[in-house]
Amino acid sequence: MSNELELQVLNPATEEIVATVPAASAADVDAAVARAARAQTKWAATAPADRARLLRRFADVVDAHLDELAQLEVREAGHLLGNARWEAGNARDLLLYAAGGAERLLGKQIPVPGGWNVTFQEPLGVVGVVAPWNFPMPIAAWGSFPALAAGNAVVLKPAETTPLTALRLAQLALDADLPEHLFQVLPGHGHIAGRALVDHPDVAKIVFTGSTRTGREVMERCARQVKPVTLELGGKSPNIVFADADLKAAVDPFSFLDNSGQDCCARTRILVQEPVFEEVRELLADALSAVVVGDPADEKTQMGPLISRQQLDRVREFVPADAPALRGGAPDGPGFWFPPTVLTGERHDSAAAREEIFGPVAVLLPFTDEADAVRLANDTPYGLAGSLWTRDLGRALRVSQAVRAGNLSVNSHSSVRYWTPFGGFKQSGVGRELGPDALTAFTETKNVFISTEGPAL
Ligand code: NAD
Repeated sequence: MSNELELQVLNPATEEIVATVPAASAADVDAAVARAARAQTKWAATAPADRARLLRRFADVVDAHLDELAQLEVREAGHLLGNARWEAGNARDLLLYAAGGAERLLGKQIPVPGGWNVTFQEPLGVVGVVAPWNFPMPIAAWGSFPALAAGNAVVLKPAETTPLTALRLAQLALDADLPEHLFQVLPGHGHIAGRALVDHPDVAKIVFTGSTRTGREVMERCARQVKPVTLELGGKSPNIVFADADLKAAVDPFSFLDNSGQDCCARTRILVQEPVFEEVRELLADALSAVVVGDPADEKTQMGPLISRQQLDRVREFVPADAPALRGGAPDGPGFWFPPTVLTGERHDSAAAREEIFGPVAVLLPFTDEADAVRLANDTPYGLAGSLWTRDLGRALRVSQAVRAGNLSVNSHSSVRYWTPFGGFKQSGVGRELGPDALTAFTETKNVFISTEGPAL
């Protein structure tokens, strides 16, 4: 069991203890921020080309340890081995992409009367990153690497259940000769180390990824110091399937089963136009029964366990045993297993249809026409992602514009690519990560006017 002083990391597929790590206290956070502030001053004064070179070296070291990082993620988070390899590769790729940004953090020359006007993008200082357990490596990377590239230091607090890959990344940064204390990882409890980081007056910005409930508290605490935040929060994303769609591709069950449904972009509201509703139900029933659930380290497995007993209990609360549903299978015995499930008897305003379950569970709901689809898609406090499937180009464009969400895909279920901005509308978040402007979010804009009409020098 974890306690205030240490965190016990369990393998969610076996419930065996993988590691025990010390949990940071508020005093540890204080000391880390002080060290980070000193490291940042030197880093900001390092030439951008040299910062870029070091970050590329860090990427090379991550690349050389890809399989080790992936195996660690399988053990601490129960991720499928193939997915975990992709996740480690995503961290490497983002380092390379952000490294290029360090050399292209351009200001503007703005025409004004009486002189020259230039702007600078200056680093903020120490950035605090608070990460969740569902994608420990990519989310640690998205918050931290663009911040480093822009000239900041980072103190990262990973989730209680999944500190190991983040700790390993911090060691690899040192192996790549990144300055000491520039990228520190402090495992700890949210209400102790997380709060201390958020409240610290020398932390210039917080990047928080997690639940909307905690995100609201983080935003309130940052407001007391007028501290900027990026919030990446929950989702309840629609998959809108029109009758003219390629139905087999549209109802791919991995659009909500990937990472056992513990994905903020999971398409958990399957909205289907009435004429094809029965056909979709049959396709889903066949697809769910074919999903291979089991040992995440086995290459043939398609879905692994949930992260913890607590998460399993939460999912079970939303899905009573007698609820009308299509179901796949799941292993018995140790591990936090839940079968792939599509609830078929829900109203669109029921708890299961509105709240983020964060497990392998979707709801199937009918709609009549385009206006009805848009109304249902938007009838949620969230606005993170969504898919829409149709062969009608005009409809695809109209619906993409009408759905209030940050990341939409047409005839595809993709959401997150490091080249493109990622983040939510409404209660799914504030600000954007990734994409070409990722570094700018970790800078202040400084404007300098230089008079050409002053006294001669
Ligand atoms: P959570 O909110 O419980 O915890 C997230 C992190 O915040 C953890 O590191 C935790 O220790 C820390 N924390 C908890 N209380 C805190 C406090 N008072 N002050 C500071 N830090 C605190 O979320 P979780 O259960 O770990 O993650 C699941 C949630 O994350 C889901 O809602 C999911 O949708 C969301 N998520 C969002 C995105 C996105 O990009 N929008 C991505 C992944 C996950």
